[in-house]
Amino acid sequence: MRSEERTFVAIKPDGVQRGLIGEVLKRFELKGYKVTALKMLTVSDQQARAHYAEHEGKPFYPRLIRYIQSGPIVAMVVEGYNAVAGVRHLMGSTDPDKAEVGTIRADFAQVMEYNVVHGSDSVESAEREIKIYFGEDEIFAERKCMSELVTEYLDAD
Ligand code: UDP
Ligand code: MG
Repeated sequence: MRSEERTFVAIKPDGVQRGLIGEVLKRFELKGYKVTALKMLTVSDQQARAHYAEHEGKPFYPRLIRYIQSGPIVAMVVEGYNAVAGVRHLMGSTDPDKAEVGTIRADFAQVMEYNVVHGSDSVESAEREIKIYFGEDEIFAERKCMSELVTEYLDAD
């Protein structure tokens, strides 16, 4: 079923280090999604373990935890119609070698271990992941169009 959704997106440490914040953010905005929360942070041990709980015990888990904490990330909440699947579509497959050309991972990454971006895989994961990184008071879902802003400005005095 398609509906208005919100999802958790992170530009991972390699994306931030390589100066790709603007490029990645631009793709979500150009799609028409709303960025309703945004911050740069270093992921704590607790956040890293909570975020990747489903991968605990897998061979790549220790390196994944080290990677996500290796430098600042840019965390965001992205909202739009069918946004969970749509963001993953824009991101491309986990392995950049298999990702479709035109997706973020195909265009900007070479290996799965440094694949630039994270996006939630379901509405349930999104709600769980958003809570790891944001309080509800840090999410700004309201948007006004220009005519509303101008009217408010002109009416103010
Ligand atoms: N990962 C890895 N090796 C693997 C599988 C995953 O390094 O064999 C890393 C990669 O950074 C990936 C993250 O672990 O983005 C989470 O894996 P998941 O299968 O959830 O992929 P995603 O949802 O990010 O596409
Ligand atoms: Mg995943």
